[in-house]
Amino acid sequence: MRATTAFNRIIAIDGVVVEGVSFTPEGVVVKIRRRKRRHQCPCGFSTTVHYDRSIRRWRHLDLGAAKCFLEAEICRIDCPTCRRVRTEDVTWARPGARHTSAFCAVVAWLAQRTDKTTITRLLRISWETVASIVTDVVGDVLDESRFDGLCRIGVDEVSYRKGHRYLTVVADHDQQGRAVWVHEGKNAATLALFYDELGPERVAKLEAISLDMGGAFAKATNEKAPHVRQCVDPFHLVKMANEAIDKARRWSWNEERRRAAPPRPRGRPRSDEPPRPRDEPRWVKHTRWALLKDPDNLSDQQLEVLHDLRKNHSVLYRCWQLKEGLRDLYRLRKPADAPAHLEWWLRWASRSRIPAFVKLAQTVRKNRERILAAVELSLSNSKLEGLNSKIRLINHRGYGHHSAEAVIAMVYLCCGGLTIELPTTSFAR
Ligand SMILES: [Zn+2]
Repeated sequence: MRATTAFNRIIAIDGVVVEGVSFTPEGVVVKIRRRKRRHQCPCGFSTTVHYDRSIRRWRHLDLGAAKCFLEAEICRIDCPTCRRVRTEDVTWARPGARHTSAFCAVVAWLAQRTDKTTITRLLRISWETVASIVTDVVGDVLDESRFDGLCRIGVDEVSYRKGHRYLTVVADHDQQGRAVWVHEGKNAATLALFYDELGPERVAKLEAISLDMGGAFAKATNEKAPHVRQCVDPFHLVKMANEAIDKARRWSWNEERRRAAPPRPRGRPRSDEPPRPRDEPRWVKHTRWALLKDPDNLSDQQLEVLHDLRKNHSVLYRCWQLKEGLRDLYRLRKPADAPAHLEWWLRWASRSRIPAFVKLAQTVRKNRERILAAVELSLSNSKLEGLNSKIRLINHRGYGHHSAEAVIAMVYLCCGGLTIELPTTSFAR
């Protein structure tokens, strides 16, 4: 078999003939030529006349350990439709790209699954190249069809770049919480952009939205989609209850510290020394997880802490009861009991004389309708919280240090339900 014939089979691009192969210090350069004589403008116009021509190289999938480049003549054409000179389209790469589409697909496929350093070492490309390829591929794959049939959505803010920057993410509750829209920023104007992009027809089909208790997303929804039923996401409510506990705990810790005996002497106690009293402030500090964690997941030690708090009639135990009482709202066997349960909780919390919970009760009362709507429709952003941890993972894998555009492309790639076909799937016939 001649070398060019062999390479024809290896490269396997439709309508392309291999003309020659050369081995250079950079890698294998495969010279290719198109069978068709016509040049295609990106706008669709085609002609046999070219304006000028040049030789260009595209990085292709590696051949063994060697890098492989495709080399071809590429023409510019004077397009009457576009009324300017444009570079023709080629079938193996997107316009302006320096890598073939097959190569880009491998990069995107890997970016969905592994960290950035692995990709740069495996494919011998820079971090910047990974980021720009991902952005390009996502730009090609992402289309408006992801907005089709949107009915119940959830919106949340997620932080990237170590919490300094925020993205607003809109997810589809009916599609396993996949991200359908991502944008930089977290205020009312940001979400308003989403409603604008959706357009009045698709906005009219929206039924419910789950959001946080902040005013920004609610404001945008009231303005742009007033008919949509708003639900306060359970996760955010429980988070506020946990914050109230934290406040009460810190207050209690400071109280204990003020009361505490002189500081413990350093070092191990001598064997003849009487046992030291329990270090109250430090102990209060260690109650944190026992109070915040889901009671089903408590360790024996943490359960012990709870029992101790209960025995000592600690205010922290009452805090814990209040938090769990609020969480019970989402565990009711009959959702119809929710209004009565919430009313009972509000009375209990407002009379608790624990400042953090009295304040929480006021906030809850203000959002009463929206909290109950979440129970009625059993809508929760828990899938969005999964999204949050996925985005943390994206950061951790080294993709979070770039521009917002690059991070957004990664969120679509990893959380938007996009399918990237590997070039090998078309090969394995
Ligand atoms: Zn054109």
